[in-house]
Amino acid sequence: MSKPQHTLPELPYTYDALEPYVDAKTMEIHYTKHHAGYVQKLRAALDKYPLLFDVPVEELLRNIESVPEEIRLAVHNNAGGHANHSFFWPLLKKNEDGRPVGELAKAVESTFGSFDAFKTGFSDMAASHFGSGWAWLSVARFGNLIVHSTGNQHSPLIHDFYPVVGLDLWEHAYYLKYQNRRPEYIEAFFNIINWDQAEENYNRALEYQKR
Ligand code: MN
Repeated sequence: MSKPQHTLPELPYTYDALEPYVDAKTMEIHYTKHHAGYVQKLRAALDKYPLLFDVPVEELLRNIESVPEEIRLAVHNNAGGHANHSFFWPLLKKNEDGRPVGELAKAVESTFGSFDAFKTGFSDMAASHFGSGWAWLSVARFGNLIVHSTGNQHSPLIHDFYPVVGLDLWEHAYYLKYQNRRPEYIEAFFNIINWDQAEENYNRALEYQKR
């Protein structure tokens, strides 16, 4: 029997690995309840459409209009949730004075003027996003970096953007530790960005947008 396409990926660290920025309890609930829930609901939605079982989650999102209408919204939400969280976990790692590296560092500087200007723009946008969603640094269609946000579990891939850095703005990601203080959570995020992973995402994004 082949491995089912949609499974919960292994968390690349322990629940307490990002303390004190993300507390262990939040990490555990976020991964075992929220992310696992998206995977389970995605599989349930695809149950009646065996032809779609083996389509990778990114392809489902890029081609959301090809998904049968009956399950399109469920796939949009849960494939989005699955893809966004699968992207998010490896992006997190405690850093010391972390800053972008390599080609990404150069692109951030040339696009935004400086890393600090990027950080301010990203943080302001994340803080002012209304309701649940995600803040992103993505590569857009011309290979250019852009800061943007999406609502709920809407994936950048649906806009033909390819994510480089993303921050979960749902309250489930921060409420236990930060309550309503989203700006503090955003500030903490800059201590746990795995910039090596972001650089890898950036190079993959440039390849993707060359197609
Ligand atoms: Mn989440």
